Amino acid sequence: MTCPCGLTPLDGDTICPACVSDVTKLLAETDAVVGDLVRAVPRASLTASYGERVSSSGSLHAPLPINDTALDAHMALDKWLMRTALELAKVTRAPLTGRDSAGLSSYLLAHMNTLRRQDWAGRVKGELGGLLKKCVQATLPPGERINVGACGSVFNGEACTNPLTPLKDQDQIKCRVCGTSWGVADRQRSAIGAAWDAIGAPAIVVRALKEYGVSIKPKNIENWVMLGHLTPVNTEGRKQYRVSDVYGVAKRMAARRKAA
Ligand SMILES: [Zn+2]
Ligand SMILES: [Zn+2]
Repeated sequence: MTCPCGLTPLDGDTICPACVSDVTKLLAETDAVVGDLVRAVPRASLTASYGERVSSSGSLHAPLPINDTALDAHMALDKWLMRTALELAKVTRAPLTGRDSAGLSSYLLAHMNTLRRQDWAGRVKGELGGLLKKCVQATLPPGERINVGACGSVFNGEACTNPLTPLKDQDQIKCRVCGTSWGVADRQRSAIGAAWDAIGAPAIVVRALKEYGVSIKPKNIENWVMLGHLTPVNTEGRKQYRVSDVYGVAKRMAARRKAA
């Protein structure tokens, strides 16, 4: 029996002592992470949109300006804690001590000696770690967000105009108005695609790329021109650059830095 991390578990365990201690730490910090999250849920993001008013029940209402990312992350965490605690309870035969995240995580902690012997214990560290990371990210301020354009999902012949502003590291974003889920990387590529042929002074190109999560400085553009990586589109007057050209060089440079 080998732990997913490659080390050898103690007799009867399925995960190694180091991973047991990591899982214990994750469970112990769940309370504080959820506390931050609960405070973040009602906070409107600066770009909160009230969307179109709908009247399916006859009453007019607009979606509340809540932090959907935080709400989704909290729900996913609670669902996972519940599923895992129920799985463990089959073996411990001890009833659950609470059904909220605090109660469930302390149940798992209390029965760690049983948990570490289960054949599914190897999944716990990765799964719980990922869910907690999403919870922490969801509490970050809107400044950590990027713009990937309007949702664009079409209902009854009308496109949803809600702007999508995921966190920098978020994989998926759910539109708060129509509920459509989008992959952030795809959206980022197509948002940059829409500005692909735009031409502007360095400051404008830098701002456009920043909107889409690519951080460069006007100074970088100057250096790239000097080194021959980039050419302005005009030969007279203030130098202007095409967004796609600058994006291409920025990506190449980032790849080169990574390889070095
Ligand atoms: Zn391990
Ligand atoms: Zn939408």
